[in-house]
Amino acid sequence: MLKYSIEDLDLFGKKVFLRLDLNLPLDKHGKISDTTRLQKSLPTIKRLLEKKAKVVIFSHLGRPQNREQKFSLRQVALKIEDFLKQKVIFAPEIEKTKLAPIINNLQNSEVVLAENTRFYPQEKANDPTFCKSLASLFDLYINDSFGTIHRKEASNYGIAKCFATPSCGFLVQTEIQNLSKLLQKPAQPFVAILGGAKIKDKIPLIQNLIPLVDTILIGGGMAYTFLKARGETIGNSIVDNSSLDFSKELLKNYGNKICLPSDHIVTNELKKCSDFANCDKISAEKLGVDLGQKTIKKYKDTIKMAKTIFWNGPLGVTEIKPFDNASNEIAKAVAKSNSFSVIGGGDSVLTVTKLGIQEKISHISTGGGAALEFIANKELPGISVLKNK
Ligand code: AMP
Repeated sequence: MLKYSIEDLDLFGKKVFLRLDLNLPLDKHGKISDTTRLQKSLPTIKRLLEKKAKVVIFSHLGRPQNREQKFSLRQVALKIEDFLKQKVIFAPEIEKTKLAPIINNLQNSEVVLAENTRFYPQEKANDPTFCKSLASLFDLYINDSFGTIHRKEASNYGIAKCFATPSCGFLVQTEIQNLSKLLQKPAQPFVAILGGAKIKDKIPLIQNLIPLVDTILIGGGMAYTFLKARGETIGNSIVDNSSLDFSKELLKNYGNKICLPSDHIVTNELKKCSDFANCDKISAEKLGVDLGQKTIKKYKDTIKMAKTIFWNGPLGVTEIKPFDNASNEIAKAVAKSNSFSVIGGGDSVLTVTKLGIQEKISHISTGGGAALEFIANKELPGISVLKNK
């Protein structure tokens, strides 16, 4: 899947619409608590400035109901200034009439950050008039926001459609290249590790992955639906009854590829400091909250042999210590392995960053939902709209 990228464009003096994912986490006082997403976009911004483009950045922040000032991108402009060490002009309104004078006065290599696109209902509605009018202010469109690339919104899709060569930035290009490697002739053995609470959301992903992989190691809450489907007792463990039929069918057709836990950490209730034990069978009043020692060992042995790994979803209730043990152990095993490894999804990404082993993972996706849809082979509007090479 080769798409036009920033490197294929003549950027000198061009007015560039740049869609980034600056949806940075905010603390309880509304201040930015982490700038990782911004830092991942810096290579694209810097390349545009080196090539003397006029750069106008667009992003959303949070889920504002109306113009709630805590979701203003104004404070993000200051963070960009810190990283670029140059002035960033903040544009508080993004309608054409308000934005045009700012853009028309821009010099080469200057940067503007426009206000939260979600302050405008036309963004989510992908309003064609809004798209055309905004697009008319620019020469080029670049999308470097993988986190929103699965959404058919104005700044990801409708505006891109108004240009002859909508292109991607470095971050989106890297995501496409690395995620495609999982789907196109992945080196074998290919091991997928899937966790999280529910199967339902991940059915398309599992359906697309299962023919490609040698093994799927199942953990987290979803393991209990599979175990129930196999007729085992799961006590009070979480179960997704609406996915029981799917699980039975999958076990029938691909049972040789699916690994389920053979022992568990069980407890009486989901709370801190509750008593817990490692056991093979889950009695009626207990619930499984993490993988047991035997299972962790077996999963680690499988990971050691893998040449390709994809991991999504926590393998236990990672929010409560020590039920983050299996996820930590598996993260370390993936980092140690000699494989092309990809991690997607908030909780699993958090585990590797917390352990400080990100550098040992081949690719950490910046888009949880987008990565899952990509691997499920769904059409992602923000990618399909980019010009093919
Ligand atoms: P998901 O959004 O489907 O990826 O699920 C993530 C959630 O799964 C996290 O909040 C975990 O606490 C939860 N989870 C993982 N393992 C279990 C488990 N054994 N029982 C209940 N919830 C779990």
